[in-house]
Amino acid sequence: MSAEAIIETRGVCKRFSGFTALKEVSVGIQAGTLTSIIGPNGAGKSTFFNVLSGALEPSEGQIFFMGRDITGLRPHEFAHVGIAKSFQITNLFPNFTALENVRIGLQAHVSRYGLWRRRSALQGLDEEAALLLKTVGLADRARHLARELAHGQQRALEIAVALAAKPKLLLMDEPTAGMSPEETKVMMDLIRKLVEQRTVVLVEHKMKLVMGISERIVVLHNGELIAEGTPDDIRANDLVKRVYLGQ
Ligand code: ADP
Ligand code: MG
Repeated sequence: MSAEAIIETRGVCKRFSGFTALKEVSVGIQAGTLTSIIGPNGAGKSTFFNVLSGALEPSEGQIFFMGRDITGLRPHEFAHVGIAKSFQITNLFPNFTALENVRIGLQAHVSRYGLWRRRSALQGLDEEAALLLKTVGLADRARHLARELAHGQQRALEIAVALAAKPKLLLMDEPTAGMSPEETKVMMDLIRKLVEQRTVVLVEHKMKLVMGISERIVVLHNGELIAEGTPDDIRANDLVKRVYLGQ
């Protein structure tokens, strides 16, 4: 394993009742980078995302996080080691304000502390929540109910909730899905900012969207890793070109 890999899969396979969605995927994600996992529809991106976030256990193979074998840990244990995912709309409480949603996320995190640290940590949660809202560009939406927010703002709020767990690795599955061009631009700017503080892995169907901001690209096709490298490497890759043109 390369020294800088924050998360690494070794020979990961995932089968769904006979159908193989991932075939021996071995990939290392370098710490501090923005890495995008791309591929046409059905390539296995979401399945791989779910394996990385602990939502799905691989049928075969292993996952290492900061050098530790985390294969088979429960989803909440993936969260505890420092892996967060965003873009599950169901994570938001629609009738709570944006600030309350982030505060709930922070409280869940604090409840893992010992009593002494917990008492001091519970003070100042509102300020911390406000700070996270500012990070994602929602400072002026703190008192709005989650359900009143625009689609792009709800996506940003989900990121703030994910950040409340103070993850070392943030995973995002198609963060701009269903967004207008303006919302997409805002989200891409936010992702650029997020990677200054942590490792970010983006799963994305639209190759063009991630070429400009990613440092590394991983290409999946039919459940197999077909290419890995810098955006320039990927642009020049004949197999990748064929797979995307063939759509
Ligand atoms: P992508 O996100 O790249 O579009 P997915 O990971 O969602 O691809 O799916 C990859 C393949 O695995 C698809 O053919 C899909 O139908 C299949 N698949 C995904 N999840 C399941 C499941 N729970 N049961 C059976 N097949 C699945
Ligand atoms: Mg998908």
